[in-house]
Amino acid sequence: MRIDIATAPGSHPRPNEDWTAVATPSAGSGGTLIALDGVTPPRTGGDGCVHGVPWFTSRLGGALTELSASRREMPLTDVLGEAIRRTADAHRDTCDLSHPRTPQATVVMVRWDAGTVEHLVLSDSTLLLESPAGEVRAVVDDRLDRIPRSVRRQAAATDALRNTEGGFFTAAVDPDVAAKAVTGRTPASEVRALVALTDGAARWVEVFREGDWADCLALVRKSGPQELIDRVRAAESADPDGVAFRRGKAYDDATVVYVEP
Ligand SMILES: [Zn+2]
Repeated sequence: MRIDIATAPGSHPRPNEDWTAVATPSAGSGGTLIALDGVTPPRTGGDGCVHGVPWFTSRLGGALTELSASRREMPLTDVLGEAIRRTADAHRDTCDLSHPRTPQATVVMVRWDAGTVEHLVLSDSTLLLESPAGEVRAVVDDRLDRIPRSVRRQAAATDALRNTEGGFFTAAVDPDVAAKAVTGRTPASEVRALVALTDGAARWVEVFREGDWADCLALVRKSGPQELIDRVRAAESADPDGVAFRRGKAYDDATVVYVEP
């Protein structure tokens, strides 16, 4: 089994709001991977929470890791629902959980054993699955992409679509959004490698178009996850005002996890 991880904040001194973990069992094959991208709150209006996004992603990520690793019979959608419930309960008494910008995160979760690779993707993070023949499949939840760009450029209009039917869903306070996640199972014999990417890393493909998903996976395998992040940072620095490559943030938190199960 090979596991490589790199994660980096978009710009100092802001904290890195991505969160990632990999657990492997002591008793042989298999493991679980979690990658979260915390949604940055707006400068004005707050988020109704006294704790902040890093607190939220740590709580959610910790619960996802524990449940997916120790309750292997539990479907990943149930793992996500229970982790959201636990995290919401941890600040229900101190925070306004009905606030539209209550701390929330995108989710990639993968759990594998000798027979099967299970996956779950919610909101705009990406999972790449490579077959033994070298074919790369990108698993994405494209609800956010289906919202017109003109709407996505307006924070208030985008907020109105958060966790509402016809909009897009993130892990926040409602356990039922787990059922909206993109999920699947693949025979382990059909997965040679996999890569989880938060959107700050996926912009190497999606924004800067320096290669396709297969190129991305090949780069990470050969040169490591940090190299992908370094290349994204170089592309961001070459276009700091987002003129050539329009994007929300000039620099974004980026996380890359590579696994050969
Ligand atoms: Zn809170």
